[in-house]
Amino acid sequence: MKNITILGSTGSIGVSTLEIISAHPDRFRVVALTAGKNLELLVRQIKQFAPRIAVVASQDDVPRLKELCSGLDVTILGGVEGLIAAATADETEMVVAAIVGAAGLVPTAAAIRARKDIALANKETLVTAGHLFMDLVAEFGVRLFPVDSEHSAIFQSIEGHRNEDIQKIILTASGGPFLSTPASQLSTVTVRDALNHPNWNMGKKITIDSATMMNKGLEVIEARWLFNTPVEKILVNIHPQSIIHSMVEYVDGCVIAQLGTPDMKAPIAYALAYPERVTTGVRPLDLTSFSGLTFFNPDIEKFRCLGLAYRAISAGESMPAVMNAANEIAVAEFLEGRIGFTRIAETIERTMDAHTPHHLRSIDEVLKADLWGRESAREICKEMGY
Ligand code: NAD
Ligand code: MG
Repeated sequence: MKNITILGSTGSIGVSTLEIISAHPDRFRVVALTAGKNLELLVRQIKQFAPRIAVVASQDDVPRLKELCSGLDVTILGGVEGLIAAATADETEMVVAAIVGAAGLVPTAAAIRARKDIALANKETLVTAGHLFMDLVAEFGVRLFPVDSEHSAIFQSIEGHRNEDIQKIILTASGGPFLSTPASQLSTVTVRDALNHPNWNMGKKITIDSATMMNKGLEVIEARWLFNTPVEKILVNIHPQSIIHSMVEYVDGCVIAQLGTPDMKAPIAYALAYPERVTTGVRPLDLTSFSGLTFFNPDIEKFRCLGLAYRAISAGESMPAVMNAANEIAVAEFLEGRIGFTRIAETIERTMDAHTPHHLRSIDEVLKADLWGRESAREICKEMGY
């Protein structure tokens, strides 16, 4: 029996994780659940999974959650302290880090310090503080399992191989909803168009990141840290069918890839049950039903965010944290209808232009760089308008 905390249980990854857990009650038990704003769903999850601890992101929501849970045997907490308590609960063995954005940083770091294994969905953690996180993972001797489908694919393709034998890591990308939209039309696409992802059903922020291809940029940085591979060896191939989830090329010319129907339950289950495999209900892959699998290079003139992510990781130090913060603000402003789609890349680029990278020695310094990036990006958005 593995005891699990889910940070972000009401999100897309959180809900899929609970589906796997409910299908295998003999293997997994929920210790703690945390949510942002969706109290109704959190209460339903508390009733179904009977966690010892439940946390809501804002302290202001604690009284209401307590009221909704009256009569239930659960400790209700709130705020960052609550998230940390959930992440470090004594009986927890694995923490599923599925909060979106830099908000996942502090509780995930606390979980590592409390020697919990991590199933990492929250890629922003590695983007903002990759070197510090990988140092913490080594220092506290925990295991870090990727949940992101591409990184799970690489993890599965790398097992049993030596790091120095890797020639290239090839991340696949669906290309998102605007793959065949002419660049000249991108400035007028709507929020609805951008949320209409062809292959994956995900939270709003990552869906917009997929439309701008910043998601792939964040994943390049995530792969750089997870697999300790220089960024020059990490390539992106557009693969619209999303069947090959990523590949590793070795020095002998052999390429190992992982394939499957696009469904996050597969990589989540692999992280939860590693090194075993458990049933997921994911539709079996029938390659004969495809007329062809296609691959091509991304258009970095059109998808400027991808180039910005390579620029950020090459600059290093505080630049990826600032880029990530600017992206979070720009995506939120776009979702609120306050800036147009192409302004997302523009906001990030202008924020990065204004930043002089400096070394980050602690999570506190990462949070300061994050705050600087947010404030600068907010100003730039205000200036620019729609
Ligand atoms: P989501 O928006 O559906 O869910 C996010 C979860 O975090 C929710 O439970 C929400 O309540 C909680 N949350 C949001 N802001 C918070 C805050 N400030 N404090 C505490 N909790 C907060 O997002 P998602 O699609 O499930 O993605 C979660 C993470 O996983 C992201 O980092 C994303 O990049 C990554 N990821 C997602 C997918 C996917 O298929 N959805 C795939 C790969 C990676
Ligand atoms: Mg991914």
